Amino acid sequence: MMATHQDARQAQEEKLGELHEKLTDAVASLVTGDDWADALRFAARFRSRSFNNVMLIWQQHAAAFEAGHVPEPYPSYVAGYKQWQMLGRQVDKGQHGYQILAPVTGRFASATPQDAASWRRLGRGERPRSGEAVRSRMVGVRPAYVWDVSQTSGDVLPELPEPRILEGEAPTGLWLGLAAQVKERGFELLRVSEKSEISGANGLTDFAARTVSVRGDMDDAAQAKTLAHELAHVLMHGPDQEEARQHRGIGEVEAESVALMVGAAHGMDTSQYTIPYVAGWAANVDGKNPVEIVEATGERVRKTALSILNRLETVQVSDGVPPGLEHDSATQTPRTAAPAGPELAVARQREVTGRTL
Ligand SMILES: [Zn+2]
Repeated sequence: MMATHQDARQAQEEKLGELHEKLTDAVASLVTGDDWADALRFAARFRSRSFNNVMLIWQQHAAAFEAGHVPEPYPSYVAGYKQWQMLGRQVDKGQHGYQILAPVTGRFASATPQDAASWRRLGRGERPRSGEAVRSRMVGVRPAYVWDVSQTSGDVLPELPEPRILEGEAPTGLWLGLAAQVKERGFELLRVSEKSEISGANGLTDFAARTVSVRGDMDDAAQAKTLAHELAHVLMHGPDQEEARQHRGIGEVEAESVALMVGAAHGMDTSQYTIPYVAGWAANVDGKNPVEIVEATGERVRKTALSILNRLETVQVSDGVPPGLEHDSATQTPRTAAPAGPELAVARQREVTGRTL
């Protein structure tokens, strides 16, 4: 028995090792700004999944397409085997699922929740003692599989409305929704008439003056894009944020990347977005592995874009979860133990906003 258990564990470890290699290869292949922009456009379509899982789905779908197993170069909706069954669809014979990383959670209990060291993990089926607080936390990852809709057959999926916009137009409600989020953080939004007023830039975030300026003499799409870029700075790069980048280069990459994801999620043309040479900025941070930096940046960007998008009342492109599935059960975004940067910042900024407005 013991041996079997160990074998299973070893097999899982090996699979995880392979998956990690796949992931590293996929991330390492994002060398130019254009590669990075492509990855972000793809991530916008699957934004409710972790950046790592987005990369894994992207890479494995591309391989399946090259091998002639799927008809389209890009997947549209992905879900697990049983989830497809819940939607009345069956994975076709011979179709291999895409391996992703699913979170493994454990339950923890404590009688003194404030004391971080007091939490103990509950065993399977173990109940907390009376008066103890309980919470779930991610303790690891395991391999899981998902399939694209094109690898399944059965009931027809309902069609969701897709945003359609003309060149130069901003999606309905986008500017107002972004502006509201800027103001909620206690920033005044200014439209300047000339770029010379903000040193030649299209937009500017001033943390000291608590203002966000956007040039008013650009078309609506460019203004909305600029506002999304500045909102990303507001959310991610405040002086009080520990994770604020010492390297301005990464801050600009992050802000432009968030803007691209927000734009792509609205079906906007994102070909004008300029993101510098990725290998260059990733190699710029001393002592860190460039692949890790790209991964970490991707996840920060995705989380920030997702938090912005979730608070907009605009028509957005699908996020890759098949219509009809509950979002929580459908997407297995590994949750980290500590709340992520942007959410934390939002909570803090809300307090500030409450005082100033
Ligand atoms: Zn910027």
